[in-house]
Amino acid sequence: MRIWVYPGSFDPVTAGHMNIIERASGLCDRLVVALLRNTGRTPIFTLEERLRMLRLAAGDLPGVEVDSFGGLLAEYVRMRGGQAVVRGVRRASDYEYETQMALMNRRLCPGMDTVFLPAEPAYAPLSSTAVRDVGMLGGSLAGLVPEAVRELAEEKLRRMK
Ligand code: ADP
Repeated sequence: MRIWVYPGSFDPVTAGHMNIIERASGLCDRLVVALLRNTGRTPIFTLEERLRMLRLAAGDLPGVEVDSFGGLLAEYVRMRGGQAVVRGVRRASDYEYETQMALMNRRLCPGMDTVFLPAEPAYAPLSSTAVRDVGMLGGSLAGLVPEAVRELAEEKLRRMK
């Protein structure tokens, strides 16, 4: 069974993340979308809110599972019996950062690999940061986040103005 892990902070999950989830899940048997509990930055949405939004958006997709983890990604992938990590690449700077991470993960867990999927051009400018900026200024998140989480995300961000 080919098990891949797609890790991220998903603060919040965006239409760009969903595009990667849909494409990656078609390439493996089980895609575990894994929310990082220990991010460097302080997230805007709580762990519970991010997990809830991910479950609403991706929990029912065939072959997709939503989970969260703390500590080393390489350890988590090994524990799940996974073979690869999935990452989306939007631009050259993503690639530079991602290759470094991929090589470190491979060092920590020999045999584990990273699959890079190029961002769909329509979603390449989309990031959780951009979504938070638009939402906090009262803009509509239609098309930027999955419809199932739009109200939730808009309401919370609007309150943060
Ligand atoms: P992190 O905080 O680890 O960067 P993110 O939740 O921001 O986590 O992103 C998780 C993954 O999704 C990363 O590989 C990132 O490059 C990718 N990603 C983010 N936005 C997009 C997008 N619009 N299109 C494709 N991939 C994306």
